[in-house]
Amino acid sequence: MKIKNINILHQGSSPTDLPTEGLGFGRYFTKLIFTQQYDPENGWHKREIKNRGSLDLDPTAQIFHCGQGIFEGIKAFQQVDGQVAFFRIEEHLKRFNKSAIRMAMPTIALDNHLEAIKKLVALEKNWIPSSEGAALYIRPVMIANESTLEVRASNTFMHFILLSPVGPYFGNGLNPVSVYISHDYVRAVQGGTGEAKTIGNYAASLLATENARKDGFQQVLWLDANERRYVEEVGGMNIAFVYGDTHISTPGLTGSILPGVTRDSIAKLSASLGFTFSEDKIDINTLVKDLRTGNVTEVFAMGTGAIIAPVGRLKYMDEEIIVNEQRVGPVSKKLFKALTDIHYGRSSSPAGWLEHLEE
Ligand SMILES: *Cc1c(COP(=O)(O)O)cnc(C)c1O
Repeated sequence: MKIKNINILHQGSSPTDLPTEGLGFGRYFTKLIFTQQYDPENGWHKREIKNRGSLDLDPTAQIFHCGQGIFEGIKAFQQVDGQVAFFRIEEHLKRFNKSAIRMAMPTIALDNHLEAIKKLVALEKNWIPSSEGAALYIRPVMIANESTLEVRASNTFMHFILLSPVGPYFGNGLNPVSVYISHDYVRAVQGGTGEAKTIGNYAASLLATENARKDGFQQVLWLDANERRYVEEVGGMNIAFVYGDTHISTPGLTGSILPGVTRDSIAKLSASLGFTFSEDKIDINTLVKDLRTGNVTEVFAMGTGAIIAPVGRLKYMDEEIIVNEQRVGPVSKKLFKALTDIHYGRSSSPAGWLEHLEE
């Protein structure tokens, strides 16, 4: 089906009261959004860029009752030579379509999605922050909007794209975070939706995260649902463990873990940085032992938001474990530098990882 033109209803804007420091994550939004509509006869149509206001949604819309909804999180960077670059955007857009298929939703052709993002970012390019650690976070979302209370896939959908200028995810850059290993709750099961970036996964994770917060921990590390024994991931980030000085071990993709683009990037960069990388079945009991003895020297989480989030403190059952004296380790530092040097164009990037706004 031919892609319809984008109707630009309002003009781009510039931020007026945006702080240069302390942007936070997902606190500020540009004025414009992109939206398009789907129905089986017309495919994706009514492609518009317009001022962000309320969405036109009936209370009977399927999203409120069955929760067919997916999203992505992509970053664009203001590079040192003045160009704007999207990091591995095609990987993100392909994963968006995989999430769509899992959730019985229509896919979006890559050129449709890419054109929408590029047009929107081009109009709002004054919002792209240039300070170190900052980026323009791009949040595509698809929701079911057919009016029905029947429990079935919707026939109609809405796709929208938000832009948010963001700073470092955890405030002041590379600072170790604390992680509570959940034994009572699970995030996802094999055969379920853990592999998809679908909104319900996050709803399912909130209670455990709130409980962990009350206990003084920032994030939850999830174990597998069947045995509550094998390490899976953090709620919005994948996890890795450093053995000795150079070996990085991460849980293999079991079907209930979100296949992160950052995780994949680190896997692909490891060898050139002098690291070995393996995907393993990581037993929590063995891991706790390896942490106690110091066989594991560093723990870090990885995702588009934080890029690398070193873990300084873990709690499993009643035991609290301190990692690397709660300091940022050399492997985390090196990976963070390697990735951010690519993001900001300070070093060359593997082929196809960067897409520029203007060629
Ligand atoms: C988005 C996300 C990740 C990280 O994926 P990236 O592509 O690296 O941003 C990891 N786990 C979950 C549950 C996620 O939603």
